[in-house]
Formats: sequence, C-alpha cells, structure tokens
Amino acid sequence: MDTLKMKLQDVIDSRMDEFYDYLRLDSVSTQDRKIPETVEYVKGMLEKTGGEVQVLDDLGGNPVVYGFFPAGKGGNKDKTLLFYNHYDVQPEDPIDEWESAPFEPTVKDDILYCRGVADNKANLMVRLNAIQALLDSEEGLSCNVKFLIEGEEENGSPSLGGYLEKYADLFKSDACIWEFGGKDEDENYVIEAGIKGMAYFDLYVESADVDIHSSIGAVVDNAAWRLTHALASLRNADNQVLVEGFYDDITPPTDFEKEVVARKPFDEEKTKELYGLKHPLITKDLEWTPNEALAFYPTMTICGFISGYTGPGSKTVLPRAASAKLDCRIVPGQDPEKIHKLIRTHLDKNGFEDIKLDLIKAQKAFRSDLKNNFVDIVVESAKKAYGEGTDVVLSPNNAGTGPMYNFDKYLNLPVLSSGCGWANSKAHAPNESVRLKDFFEGTAHMAYLLQDFGK
Ligand SMILES: [Zn+2]
Repeated sequence: MDTLKMKLQDVIDSRMDEFYDYLRLDSVSTQDRKIPETVEYVKGMLEKTGGEVQVLDDLGGNPVVYGFFPAGKGGNKDKTLLFYNHYDVQPEDPIDEWESAPFEPTVKDDILYCRGVADNKANLMVRLNAIQALLDSEEGLSCNVKFLIEGEEENGSPSLGGYLEKYADLFKSDACIWEFGGKDEDENYVIEAGIKGMAYFDLYVESADVDIHSSIGAVVDNAAWRLTHALASLRNADNQVLVEGFYDDITPPTDFEKEVVARKPFDEEKTKELYGLKHPLITKDLEWTPNEALAFYPTMTICGFISGYTGPGSKTVLPRAASAKLDCRIVPGQDPEKIHKLIRTHLDKNGFEDIKLDLIKAQKAFRSDLKNNFVDIVVESAKKAYGEGTDVVLSPNNAGTGPMYNFDKYLNLPVLSSGCGWANSKAHAPNESVRLKDFFEGTAHMAYLLQDFGK
C-alpha cells in the first residue's frame, strides 16, 4: 500500500464513530424527522475537517449546507471542485424486512448496513476523509473544494434550484462530483456523466359518493376499473408509451454517446438473478438494447395503485375511489410540464376527463459533454484508486434521477458521478448497505481526484 492509502485507512478508522453517529440520525425529509439536528451535525463534520461552513436557510425548505476548503500552499487557487451531497434519507419502511435496526449501523461480513448509508451518507464521509488525509499531508489540497449538501433530495429537491440561483457566485466551481455512484453487477466501477429527469404524477378518480354492494356492479361501474382502463391506455404491453408527442422532444444521443453505451457491459442473466425476475426484460422486442434503454429512453411506470378492499378474505364491494402513482423517467430534451400536458390531453381525448392528474415532482434530465477533459481526470484517477482488478466504465447518464439539470443551468459545469455503492446497495429498500472495501476505495478515488484536479 502506498503512503497515501495508508494515511487514508488511518483517517477512515479515526472517524468511524463519527460516521456511525451521522448514520444514526434518522433524517427522513419526507417525514420531517431530525432535520435541524442533522444540519447541525453535518456542519460540525465539515468544521472538524477544517472547512468554512455556512448554513443557508433563507429561501425556505430544509437548509442547504455550504462548505469551503481553500487550496493549500502549492495548490492551484484558480481551480475549484464542487461536491454535491444530501443529508436526507428515505423512510425505512417496510421495517419488517430489515435484518438489523434500520438506523443502527451494523457490520456483517465487512458490509455496513443502515438506512441512508449508500444514499447518501457514506459518500459524504468518503469525501471528508479524503480531504482530511490530504490536509494532513505536506502537499495539502491541490485545488479549492466546495460542498453543497442539501436536505430535500429524497423529496425531489424542491428548494435547490432557488438556492443555486441565488447563491450561484458562492457555489461557482469548475466541475462537480455528483452525490452517488459505484460498482455494477459485474464489479465494474461505473462513472456517470448525467442523469435522467422525472415527471411524477398522482392520479385520482371517484365513481360514487359511497362504496356500493358489488351486486350493483351489474349496472354501476367502479373507480378501480375506470383508473385501470385509463392507465392501460397510456402504455401498451410492448412497453411503448401511447401518449401522443411523448417521444418527440428527445435529444438524440450523439455517435460518441452511443459508442460509450455500446462499450458498457450488460449481463441479462445476472440482472434476472439479482431481482429474481419472473418475466423477460421489456426491452425484448424493442429496437434498442437494455443499456440504450437505461441511458437514452424515457420510461413510464405505475409505482402504486390503491382502491377497494385489500385485506384478507373477501369483501364484495364497488370501490368508490381509486388512486395511482405514475412516474416517467425522462431524458434530455423532454420537459416534465410538457409531459404533464400531453398526458392530460391524452386522458381527455380518450374520455377520461374526470381523472385527476397532478404533477407532484418535476425534474429535467442532464448529460455532460463526454469530451470535456474533466471526464478523463475522473476516469484516470478512478483507475489509480481501483487498480488492475476493476474495470472503470464510463456511462453518458444514470438511469435514475436527481437535480443535476439545475447545476448546469446556474453553475454551467460538467457533472460526473463517483460513489462507494455496489450493485446490492439497496438504496431506498430494506437492508441498505455499502461494503467497507468500497468505502476505502471510494475514499482513495476522491483523494487521487483531488490531487489530479489542481494540476
Ligand atoms: Zn435516494
């Protein structure tokens, strides 16, 4: 092990208790749990590392924590790297499926389990540990480092755009490392240069003032059927969205982006095994590959459906109301407000005017220019950190969603992901985890990146 890696291990060990206390804070933004306490704790962690901190809370929503670490003596004061993280986490439900207490950090077989560990608390710790190790070394930091740590990411980041707009000068940087990242099913280390957007909808319909005896179903329709038919009209069984204009605004991927995606491995069998899939992939009869679907094409998903009686045994009833949650992961070029209008028009045209459709989460997609030299710096520093045994794979964008678009809009910089997750991290699900080995390698990646970025 080289000296830097040894130093990193020392720093990691010395701050593990502090990290565990951070994990114990059940900062569930959607339920308003422990937010002020967590903000205070994050502020303390940055200050302890040696950073200047400001807590921004003048625009409403959960506070945004700003951190600043200036370049060291020999460092490049003209270059600034921004780290984006979030301190909020998802709810721990369903609690019964956890094998350890959700908010008690638990290590088993070198895997650390806790709600929020992969998404996103370990990634903040990795970055602070790397900075700490470099500050303790003779060379110090090779560039300025800023942090933007928000507390509403798991809620769609409703306030973040406002803070980025107002504080664009404060957060001004040359490049940004995104909150998450990690290894795929084949243990490749994946770096992503963008993210999909989101249009998330609540649908609701009523068919009567009261639930009715189901014998009356001979003459009276019910809300569950009505909503089912409406939903079924939106997408066919071949995974094609039938809403007119839905695909129109997609920015076609460049040849280089296509090339990068074609180089990415995709193991269908492993994917099936990982999730225990009971059906073939829905890309089966499409003209695009699974990797192209993940990167370049939008989705439409029913995330939940509630209506009528769902308890044990039978209850014969015509449900008076039905509601559903629908998400569309959108791609560069698509606009969530426009998708909302298109679905509304589709429902109206097909006789579903009575179905309420509310857009409750909206985010545009973003993709960095893959030819920017920041891409090379992130990829090369990852190779140093992960060594020969791990392939470093570049991807034009993640299939998930985050507020990356606003970073480009207000700060105008390339954004790449790097994190210490693994294929089985189970973000948002029970038994969320990171492996301690990935935690170490992720810290090394951040340290090498910080060394190379200032050069
Ligand atoms: Zn998340």
